[in-house]
Amino acid sequence: MILVLFDLDGTLVHTGGAGSRSMDRVFQERFGIRDASRHVQPDGKTDLQILRELYLRLVGNEDVERILPELGERYLYHLPEEVKRSVEMGTYRLLPGVRETLVWLRSLEDVVLGLATGNLEEGARIKLEPADLWKYFQGGGFGSDSEDRVQLLWAAVRKLSPEKEPDEVWIVGDTPRDIWAARRAGYRVAAVASGRYSMDTLSRFQPDLLLPTLESFQEIFSQRTVTA
Ligand SMILES: [Mg+2]
Repeated sequence: MILVLFDLDGTLVHTGGAGSRSMDRVFQERFGIRDASRHVQPDGKTDLQILRELYLRLVGNEDVERILPELGERYLYHLPEEVKRSVEMGTYRLLPGVRETLVWLRSLEDVVLGLATGNLEEGARIKLEPADLWKYFQGGGFGSDSEDRVQLLWAAVRKLSPEKEPDEVWIVGDTPRDIWAARRAGYRVAAVASGRYSMDTLSRFQPDLLLPTLESFQEIFSQRTVTA
């Protein structure tokens, strides 16, 4: 039995900047600050971690704990419209090999499929809706479980398959942070260069598997793990 946990942005889909635009709208409406998201490098960070960094950098350090839930709520309020905008502009993309990989994994009896993403759970649903991917997952760890990526991996395993040995858990992600967090959490990791990071860059963080896209996932992953 293995548990496979997928990151979302840059691993399953590109949402064409819908998340960043939603955060921009939060800071514009609440504080009159334009283009806020330019001030943070979001890759591999959780939603609340990004909102916290933006607030501390652009607004101040008082009341961050009090205001953070409100910022998260407003982000989720704007997100559906921004995802829709990306779909209409053609910048929302299902990444190569994703659906085939998920269909294949779901067909295996000894695999449990989940998400491990920094998105708030509701945000993950909204982002996966246009590609109809939510149905493949039995749950997961989200940015709403913890701002800390290692903690949300642990949360995913606790919820989906608490009896798993660490080497039966695989993380699939597109950033050095996914690799780092998987290592810290004690799990295996497959890095895929479908996001902003190249094969070369990702290889420096020494993932267990390294793929250009998920198109080669079935072939490579089955050699390593699945005997079926
Ligand atoms: Mg990602």
